[in-house]
Amino acid sequence: YIPEVEEDEAKLVTRPPVVTVMGHVDHGKTSLLDAIRQADVAAGEAGGITQHIGAYSVQTSKGPITFLDTPGHEAFTAMRQRGAQVTDLVVLVVAADDGVMPQTIESIKQAKAAKVTILVAINKIDKPGATPERVMQQLNEYELVPEQWGGTTIMLPVSARTKQGIPELLEYIALQAEVLELKANPEKLAKGVVIEAKLEKGRGPVATVLVQEGTLRTGDALVTGAEYGRVRAMMNERGEQVKAVSPGYPVEVLGLSGVPTAGDEFDVVEDEKAAKEVAEHRAEKARQKELGSVKKATLEDLFAKAKTGGQKELNVVVKADVQGSAEAVSTALQRLATKKVGVKVLTSGVGVITESDVLTAAAGKAIIVGFNTKPETKVDQIASQQGVTIKLFSIIYEAVDAVREDMVGLLEPIIKEKPLGKAEVRQVFNITRVGVIAGSAVTEGVIRRNAMCRVVRDRKVVHTGKIGSLKRLKDDVREVAQGLECGIGVDGFEAFKPGDVVEAYEQESIRPSLD
Ligand code: GDP
Repeated sequence: YIPEVEEDEAKLVTRPPVVTVMGHVDHGKTSLLDAIRQADVAAGEAGGITQHIGAYSVQTSKGPITFLDTPGHEAFTAMRQRGAQVTDLVVLVVAADDGVMPQTIESIKQAKAAKVTILVAINKIDKPGATPERVMQQLNEYELVPEQWGGTTIMLPVSARTKQGIPELLEYIALQAEVLELKANPEKLAKGVVIEAKLEKGRGPVATVLVQEGTLRTGDALVTGAEYGRVRAMMNERGEQVKAVSPGYPVEVLGLSGVPTAGDEFDVVEDEKAAKEVAEHRAEKARQKELGSVKKATLEDLFAKAKTGGQKELNVVVKADVQGSAEAVSTALQRLATKKVGVKVLTSGVGVITESDVLTAAAGKAIIVGFNTKPETKVDQIASQQGVTIKLFSIIYEAVDAVREDMVGLLEPIIKEKPLGKAEVRQVFNITRVGVIAGSAVTEGVIRRNAMCRVVRDRKVVHTGKIGSLKRLKDDVREVAQGLECGIGVDGFEAFKPGDVVEAYEQESIRPSLD
């Protein structure tokens, strides 16, 4: 729908590399990004990076570098699932004292699957007893052979705390970028990827986008997914208004019709009318796909169910006051997992519950568990709009109990039938404004109003429904016992015949067990 134009080699210019920092939790991704931000040579004059935005570029003595500061794995995975390639380089952070851990391995797998060059930052070397060699040895097992040992992977000892090795890290990133010969044509209509997006009070939908091709300008008509709009204003990571953004740079964009999806591509088109058309066309396609996928989903569900033995999963977003409790809560919840119901902690973080947590939960069909924290103002409202449940606790076992209840809720309740009694139909009356009433004799047990019943004829069930009315003589009654006669009306059924047997029963739902 949006035509691909063939690349004009002569128009290609070098663009900054786009880098994602990945690694095991607590190995220092955030600290490293902070240290890098502070190493920004341009920050001194311009006042530094003021806002938290999902991507920013820093000026180094070897040129600009763009960092994606998104919660590493999820964003990376989401974007890859959408087929968007955003990262040129992955900086894999491995804490020297901790070594290779599960998420380190996961990051290596992801980077390799995406065919992205990995640069290893062996962090926390300021710690006494930290030995980079041990990490190098461990990484060797994952086919990351350090340059020092004749391999191709750059591994640098760094400390986000003392800033040791940070300038070298930036230098190596710039060097690797040179090798990759990253180029783009700035003269085309802009194209790129949405890195993160949110709804901000007073600003409307705000999207952090990475420009990958062309130059994005204010006034451009942009379309991403089913959202569109004219770029009203753009802000860089220093909060400065910018008018034009080149390939390889991120920017915050205002002016979209709605909040786009992180990981979606964006395109600039001729004018707003075209943008609107594309967006509407896509919205329509998405609707149709959704309709189509309902059927498909049920089949896939069946397969998935067959494969997992019908295991269900409760997704949780954990937010806590401090890292320690976030981890403790996550671990406690994950331990609840049984064969029948799994527990998946989608994200676990520190701080108040934000809109972004709600959106994560909505996308992942998760509940939010807040521990010693609470939602930001207005977040409650967004949560109810999004159908996301937020549960707040200050005692771990209470959180555990509540989540266990939710897990039980995912299981199909076990419905047990409790027989009540039987009645034989003797005579059928059709009474104006009341309907068909079966004059019957209760032969066993009791017949109760509002109970479920089966109408049985020649040993075959001809109807299953609810006893809607029950009369004894002329009075409405709740129950009629064996040996007595009564008038039975069954909701939605009129075809009684003398000789039919009405079997009344009650349904009891039994709490399913998690094991
Ligand atoms: P993330 O989960 O990977 O983002 O890790 P953080 O950046 O939050 O760091 C986790 C912990 O390690 C924090 O307590 C940091 O202060 C600490 N940390 C990070 N980098 C270093 C470092 O270079 N040296 C030391 N000693 N501690 C560090």
